[in-house]
Amino acid sequence: MEPIKERKLRKWIKEGKISSDEFNDLLQEKLVERCMFWGDVLGVCDWKFYLRITRIADMIMDGCVAEVAYNDELAKAHISICRPCDFLRTNSRDTEQELIHELLHVRLRRLVISMGFMHKPLNAIQNVLMENVIDQMSQGIIDMARTTDKGVIIPVIIIGGDD
Ligand SMILES: [Zn+2]
Repeated sequence: MEPIKERKLRKWIKEGKISSDEFNDLLQEKLVERCMFWGDVLGVCDWKFYLRITRIADMIMDGCVAEVAYNDELAKAHISICRPCDFLRTNSRDTEQELIHELLHVRLRRLVISMGFMHKPLNAIQNVLMENVIDQMSQGIIDMARTTDKGVIIPVIIIGGDD
Protein backbone atom coordinates (compact mmCIF):
# COMPACT_ATOMS: atom_id res chain seq x y z
CA MET A 1 0.00 0.00 0.00
CA GLU A 2 1.72 3.11 -1.25
CA PRO A 3 0.84 6.22 0.74
CA ILE A 4 -0.90 9.02 -1.09
CA LYS A 5 1.19 12.12 -0.85
CA GLU A 6 0.23 15.73 -1.05
CA ARG A 7 1.70 16.25 -4.51
CA LYS A 8 -0.24 13.35 -5.89
CA LEU A 9 -3.41 14.78 -4.44
CA ARG A 10 -2.64 18.07 -6.11
CA LYS A 11 -2.47 16.16 -9.38
CA TRP A 12 -5.80 14.53 -8.62
CA ILE A 13 -7.39 17.91 -8.09
CA LYS A 14 -6.10 19.03 -11.48
CA GLU A 15 -7.51 15.88 -13.04
CA GLY A 16 -10.83 16.36 -11.30
CA LYS A 17 -10.56 13.13 -9.28
CA ILE A 18 -11.00 15.01 -6.04
CA SER A 19 -12.33 18.50 -5.39
CA SER A 20 -10.23 21.22 -3.86
CA ASP A 21 -12.62 21.42 -0.90
CA GLU A 22 -12.46 17.67 -0.32
CA PHE A 23 -8.69 17.90 -0.36
CA ASN A 24 -8.67 20.74 2.14
CA ASP A 25 -11.02 18.88 4.48
CA LEU A 26 -8.77 15.82 4.37
CA LEU A 27 -5.73 17.96 4.87
CA GLN A 28 -7.25 19.76 7.84
CA GLU A 29 -8.17 16.43 9.44
CA LYS A 30 -4.67 15.03 8.91
CA LEU A 31 -3.01 18.18 10.17
CA VAL A 32 -4.93 18.05 13.44
CA GLU A 33 -3.74 14.48 13.89
CA ARG A 34 -0.14 15.36 13.04
CA CYS A 35 -0.23 18.44 15.24
CA MET A 36 -0.92 16.19 18.23
CA PHE A 37 1.91 13.90 17.20
CA TRP A 38 4.46 16.66 16.66
CA GLY A 39 3.27 18.62 19.67
CA ASP A 40 4.20 15.61 21.74
CA VAL A 41 7.58 15.18 20.05
CA LEU A 42 8.45 18.86 20.37
CA GLY A 43 7.36 19.23 23.98
CA VAL A 44 4.24 21.34 23.57
CA CYS A 45 1.65 18.61 24.04
CA ASP A 46 -0.01 20.54 26.88
CA TRP A 47 -0.92 23.32 24.46
CA LYS A 48 -4.22 23.76 22.71
CA PHE A 49 -3.73 24.31 18.98
CA TYR A 50 -6.28 25.67 16.55
CA LEU A 51 -5.41 24.88 12.98
CA ARG A 52 -6.70 26.65 9.93
CA ILE A 53 -6.06 26.08 6.25
CA THR A 54 -6.30 29.39 4.48
CA ARG A 55 -5.64 31.13 1.20
CA ILE A 56 -2.30 32.88 0.94
CA ALA A 57 -4.10 36.21 0.43
CA ASP A 58 -5.74 35.77 3.84
CA MET A 59 -2.50 35.42 5.77
CA ILE A 60 -1.89 38.26 8.21
CA MET A 61 1.75 38.66 7.20
CA ASP A 62 2.22 39.27 3.49
CA GLY A 63 4.00 36.52 1.63
CA CYS A 64 3.96 34.07 4.54
CA VAL A 65 2.74 30.54 3.86
CA ALA A 66 2.20 29.76 7.54
CA GLU A 67 1.91 31.75 10.73
CA VAL A 68 1.27 31.28 14.41
CA ALA A 69 -0.24 33.51 17.08
CA TYR A 70 0.13 32.24 20.61
CA ASN A 71 -0.82 33.12 24.13
CA ASP A 72 1.79 31.88 26.56
CA GLU A 73 -0.37 32.29 29.68
CA LEU A 74 -3.32 30.39 28.24
CA ALA A 75 -1.10 27.90 26.37
CA LYS A 76 -3.16 28.34 23.25
CA ALA A 77 -1.99 28.89 19.70
CA HIS A 78 -3.65 29.56 16.38
CA ILE A 79 -1.75 28.17 13.43
CA SER A 80 -2.66 29.18 9.91
CA ILE A 81 -1.22 27.31 6.97
CA CYS A 82 -2.04 28.34 3.48
CA ARG A 83 -3.53 25.91 0.99
CA PRO A 84 -0.79 23.86 -0.63
CA CYS A 85 -2.01 24.97 -4.06
CA ASP A 86 -0.94 28.49 -3.11
CA PHE A 87 2.64 27.62 -2.31
CA LEU A 88 3.72 24.23 -3.63
CA ARG A 89 4.63 25.63 -7.01
CA THR A 90 7.17 28.03 -5.61
CA ASN A 91 8.16 26.39 -2.36
CA SER A 92 9.75 23.01 -1.85
CA ARG A 93 8.42 22.76 1.68
CA ASP A 94 5.15 21.08 2.44
CA THR A 95 2.33 21.41 4.87
CA GLU A 96 3.77 19.14 7.51
CA GLN A 97 7.04 21.02 7.53
CA GLU A 98 5.14 24.29 7.86
CA LEU A 99 3.30 22.81 10.82
CA ILE A 100 6.56 21.76 12.51
CA HIS A 101 8.02 25.20 11.80
CA GLU A 102 5.13 26.91 13.59
CA LEU A 103 5.23 24.46 16.51
CA LEU A 104 8.93 25.25 16.91
CA HIS A 105 8.02 28.94 17.24
CA VAL A 106 5.80 27.95 20.15
CA ARG A 107 8.50 25.70 21.60
CA LEU A 108 11.07 28.49 21.43
CA ARG A 109 8.74 31.18 22.76
CA ARG A 110 10.38 31.36 26.19
CA LEU A 111 13.67 32.18 24.54
CA VAL A 112 12.04 35.03 22.64
CA ILE A 113 10.21 36.21 25.75
CA SER A 114 13.41 36.05 27.81
CA MET A 115 15.08 38.31 25.27
CA GLY A 116 12.43 40.91 26.03
CA PHE A 117 10.35 40.44 22.92
CA MET A 118 7.04 39.50 24.43
CA HIS A 119 5.17 42.54 23.16
CA LYS A 120 7.43 43.88 20.44
CA PRO A 121 8.69 42.26 17.28
CA LEU A 122 12.22 41.03 16.78
CA ASN A 123 14.30 43.37 14.67
CA ALA A 124 14.99 42.37 11.06
CA ILE A 125 18.30 40.62 11.75
CA GLN A 126 17.01 38.74 14.78
CA ASN A 127 13.98 37.71 12.81
CA VAL A 128 16.03 36.33 9.92
CA LEU A 129 18.28 34.44 12.36
CA MET A 130 15.30 32.99 14.18
CA GLU A 131 13.53 31.98 10.97
CA ASN A 132 16.71 30.38 9.58
CA VAL A 133 17.26 28.31 12.71
CA ILE A 134 13.64 27.19 12.80
CA ASP A 135 13.65 26.40 9.09
CA GLN A 136 16.76 24.26 9.38
CA MET A 137 15.36 22.46 12.39
CA SER A 138 12.01 21.78 10.74
CA GLN A 139 13.78 20.55 7.59
CA GLY A 140 16.04 18.25 9.61
CA ILE A 141 13.17 16.88 11.65
CA ILE A 142 11.02 16.16 8.61
CA ASP A 143 13.93 14.59 6.70
CA MET A 144 14.72 12.32 9.62
CA ALA A 145 11.11 11.40 10.13
CA ARG A 146 10.69 10.44 6.52
CA THR A 147 13.79 8.32 6.31
CA THR A 148 12.75 6.19 9.26
CA ASP A 149 12.18 2.64 8.09
CA LYS A 150 9.31 0.57 9.47
CA GLY A 151 6.92 3.43 8.79
CA VAL A 152 6.72 4.40 12.45
CA ILE A 153 6.77 8.04 11.53
CA ILE A 154 4.97 8.76 8.32
CA PRO A 155 4.45 11.90 6.26
CA VAL A 156 1.51 13.95 7.33
CA ILE A 157 -0.10 14.06 3.98
CA ILE A 158 -0.96 10.44 3.79
CA ILE A 159 -4.64 10.42 3.13
CA GLY A 160 -6.28 7.09 2.69
CA GLY A 161 -4.27 3.97 1.98
CA ASP A 162 -4.66 2.93 -1.63
CA ASP A 163 -2.63 4.45 -4.40
ZN1 LIG B 1 8.58 31.28 11.17
